[in-house]
Amino acid sequence: MDYQKFILPHIWNLKPYSSARDEFKGKEGVFLDANENALGSGNIAPWNRYPDPMQWNIKEQLTEIKQCSLDQIFLGNGSDEAIDLLIRMTCNPAKDHVIICPPTYGMYEVSASVNNVPIIRVNLTADYQLNVDEICARINEQSKLIFICSPNNPTGNKLNRDSIYTILDKFTSGFVIVDEAYIDFSDEPSFIAELAKFPNLIVMQTLSKAYGLASLRLGMAYANPKIIQLLNKIKPPYNISGATQELVELALANKEFVKSSIETLNNAKKDLISGLNSLPGTKHIYQSNANFILVKFEQAQELFDYLIEQKIITRNRSTVTLCEDSIRITIGTTEENNLLLDKIKRFYA
Ligand SMILES: *Cc1c(COP(=O)(O)O)cnc(C)c1O
Repeated sequence: MDYQKFILPHIWNLKPYSSARDEFKGKEGVFLDANENALGSGNIAPWNRYPDPMQWNIKEQLTEIKQCSLDQIFLGNGSDEAIDLLIRMTCNPAKDHVIICPPTYGMYEVSASVNNVPIIRVNLTADYQLNVDEICARINEQSKLIFICSPNNPTGNKLNRDSIYTILDKFTSGFVIVDEAYIDFSDEPSFIAELAKFPNLIVMQTLSKAYGLASLRLGMAYANPKIIQLLNKIKPPYNISGATQELVELALANKEFVKSSIETLNNAKKDLISGLNSLPGTKHIYQSNANFILVKFEQAQELFDYLIEQKIITRNRSTVTLCEDSIRITIGTTEENNLLLDKIKRFYA
């Protein structure tokens, strides 16, 4: 695949910033190169030194967990950073466009808009699947990225794998981005295993959901090493803080927590679904392969307002395309879910 054809020339030819720490790799030494404060950081742990710009320790851990190679991993300050960098790498503002499939994650659109990049919307079908024919029909020379989110947010369902393969086969003049933020909750295999077969594939994941690290801000993009090199070239040199790197390393070592969280939340989801199904106001609960459910309610707006009064915050999706009267509910602890059920019961009583 000739990436040069669809990477913007100024990015392709960019000479990256060379940081002080790029020149010397060792840990021991007298470091007088980066204008840090040699005296320390006050009364807290020493954060006075710049962190590893390439985050090798975390990447080492991820190669084992995700079964990929070091040079296939990019780490961003949340997935949002990877989304933004991919748009800036490929899209000529006001000229090239990205394709998204609403209802879907809002950041694709925001990030494109911030960069003045037009958006083509090809809605999901009524059963929340990809409209493959329509997507393929809308592809032209100005198409640079197609965002596919599976399991999808806010609908919760996984998208048919065959549809994704078809798009990967058809769209070879740009990148197909498969956002797997919720993959850990589903039994679907990750598209990371398909990277060798599809040079136009980029898989995004995050530590914000199943790994329980939303506050640390760490998102991953997995792709062909050539694409990873380009992302590394344009990212801010120290995009992942040293504190985040240390804490993520500790968290990734605790494999039991993630595994048991997924099991606990998936069981709690089943209980919440059966609880909601027994309530009169529940019109429909959509299939979910994520840690949230989308539910169609009678009087959704009023219910949402009532829940806020009760200090239970859900996500009102009533005004979103194809989500009329629907509320997105994150699976909480058993206690939280029961409290929610109790309040909803009261609302309809
Ligand atoms: C939550 C979420 C993310 C994660 O974003 P971060 O910036 O990594 O916290 C990415 N994609 C989707 C679809 C999400 O719902």
